[in-house]
Amino acid sequence: TSQNRAEITCTTCPYCGVGCGVLAGQDGTIKGDPDHPANFGRLCSKGSALGETIDLEGRLLHPMVHGKQADWDSTLDLIAGQFSRAIRDHGPDSVAFYVSGQLLTEDYYVANKLMKGYMGSANIDTNSRLCMASSVAGHKRAFGTDTVPGTYEDLDEADLVVLVGSNLAWCHPVLYQRLVAAKQARPDMRVVNIDPRRTATCDIADLHLPIAPDGDAALFNALLAEISRRGAVDKDYISAHVNGFDAAIEAAQACDPALSGLNAEQINAFCDMWIGTPKVVTVYSQGVNQSICGTDKVNAIINCHLATGRIGRAGMGPFSVTGQPNAMGGREVGGLANMLGWHLDIENADHRAAVQEAWDSPTICTHAGLKAVDLFEACASGKIKALWIISTNPAVSLPDAGNVAEAIANVPFTVVTDIMARTDTGDLVDVLLPATGWGEKSGTVTNSERRISRQRPFLEAPGAARPDWKILCDVAARMGWADAFDYQSAADVFREYAALSNLGTRFGRDFDISGLGDLTEAEYDALAPVQWPVRKGETPGGRFFAEGGFYHADGRAKMLAITAPQCVSPEAENTFVLNSGRVRDHWHTMTRTGKSARLSQHLAEPFAEIHPEDAFALGLRDAGLVKLSSRYGTATLRALISSKVARGEIFVPMHWTAQFAPSGRINTLMAPAVDPVSGQPATKGGAVKAEAF
Ligand code: SF4
Repeated sequence: TSQNRAEITCTTCPYCGVGCGVLAGQDGTIKGDPDHPANFGRLCSKGSALGETIDLEGRLLHPMVHGKQADWDSTLDLIAGQFSRAIRDHGPDSVAFYVSGQLLTEDYYVANKLMKGYMGSANIDTNSRLCMASSVAGHKRAFGTDTVPGTYEDLDEADLVVLVGSNLAWCHPVLYQRLVAAKQARPDMRVVNIDPRRTATCDIADLHLPIAPDGDAALFNALLAEISRRGAVDKDYISAHVNGFDAAIEAAQACDPALSGLNAEQINAFCDMWIGTPKVVTVYSQGVNQSICGTDKVNAIINCHLATGRIGRAGMGPFSVTGQPNAMGGREVGGLANMLGWHLDIENADHRAAVQEAWDSPTICTHAGLKAVDLFEACASGKIKALWIISTNPAVSLPDAGNVAEAIANVPFTVVTDIMARTDTGDLVDVLLPATGWGEKSGTVTNSERRISRQRPFLEAPGAARPDWKILCDVAARMGWADAFDYQSAADVFREYAALSNLGTRFGRDFDISGLGDLTEAEYDALAPVQWPVRKGETPGGRFFAEGGFYHADGRAKMLAITAPQCVSPEAENTFVLNSGRVRDHWHTMTRTGKSARLSQHLAEPFAEIHPEDAFALGLRDAGLVKLSSRYGTATLRALISSKVARGEIFVPMHWTAQFAPSGRINTLMAPAVDPVSGQPATKGGAVKAEAF
């Protein structure tokens, strides 16, 4: 009823990139928002348990300096002084921010403006680098800018949905539920699941392709070659809108399909379905992105959609599903070290000058900053003198996590902003700052389909906790830039960011929400979920590229010649390909979901999922302990013996921290190998030795 409606707050789930609308009561009751177009009332286990994670146990409630409680003023003075001194003595590239897709867009925007326009460095990277940097790079190579062409409605309208490297059932459960509902409504709709593992997502798959780790580019090259051989190319679309067709086909034809790890029958079955079904959406996620050839994999997928003109029309297109609620917002504000806000390019002098003018800033970064893995290597080598980590836990989540922890400890001055008092990263630093968390802070997030939704507060800020944008502004003011950071509210930040986004259109870019640039406080508060672009006087949202209109200088898309898909193939005895991923009921490093007993019941401890024949060869029993080791570290886990993983491969969940399972920190095993184009770490593939413990 309207009375009940008034007692609850419409907000957005803080976990995955589906971006579900949530109705939250002050007493912690949580329901799905039936009016939100991302979820229409559905929630998954994590979203439903949000009320169990908002107590104050373990919260960081006051600034802490070297382990002692401190007041805000002196702590902010200390931070401003240390960052100013580092810039004065060692230059702007001696400071760095490492932020998070958990930040709201307003927080992200202020951090980006402060680092790139005022401190004068692009050393601001984000844990989104671990999530979808390869998709961003693939989009930019193909389309000229980082555009997600489609919408969630395409999943309802497609006749074939191909999931690549995506355990949608556990990682984006509400989208999975949407697929289940679509398949029930239209039983002829088919689903293909491409994954080395037989995951829960296989429950709705008509075809499971147990691909070799990193075999995706070989498979999509095989598909592209077959599209050409069978005459399924949309020649009119190619001629009008696409460059690079011949080279891409030639490379695809030269590629050995066996590199996919699939046999000819499996590849043919896939090609029959894909080529024979015009309305096809190819959804890709971390199994594609988190790889040393992640960007090539993205472009191999996009090539097939461009070659057939199956893009930007109802039920057709490539679709990157992001991990975090605001991974897209971070991309839009330029939260990655190699981007400017509003999808503008650091490398472009005109873009840099326009951003500097818009910000009326004293400087602007002149080159790309350090991407996540490089950033922490620079910490280890002594190049970074002051580091501020915001709302993320890199001592657990980055590859080679043991050395990352040492690198953080090596930086002369370190700050962490977090909601929790104890995290693996927070334990290493000089200063801890208490941030407001979900339910306490106000702002916006952008989900995987470009939909901007409000996160609204329904709880008081606990202790001395403050919003991230406010903390950043207070430091900026102390560094001498009070006027440029004189925001009075999150709405104030949003207005500036949205109004300036017409720079996107001015430079022929996709991103523009200037139609939201003059919202009043009340209008911002009431903002309904809206899909960008939101240009003045135009209907917002929609799809891109049905009629071309790409963002390369000539307006055409580019197909890439994908020539050398690389696969991990450890050959030494007892050496396995390590594949990491999420479990259904935990989120990232468990700082929130670890609070819920209900969520911890699903899988209570980390495990190593291993094929029965491999387990037998190693002398492992189910639930016995297995020790995994690499040149980077070791982890000891309980064996889960299952034929869902292929021989020679081991799957491990990524969530557990020193706090929850000291011997189960998986990313201590991972090599700091990255995709050469995107800089995204290859946390889906690494070689480990396994032995019974
Ligand atoms: Fe939250 Fe994602 Fe679950 Fe939706 S699907 S409730 S956004 S975790």
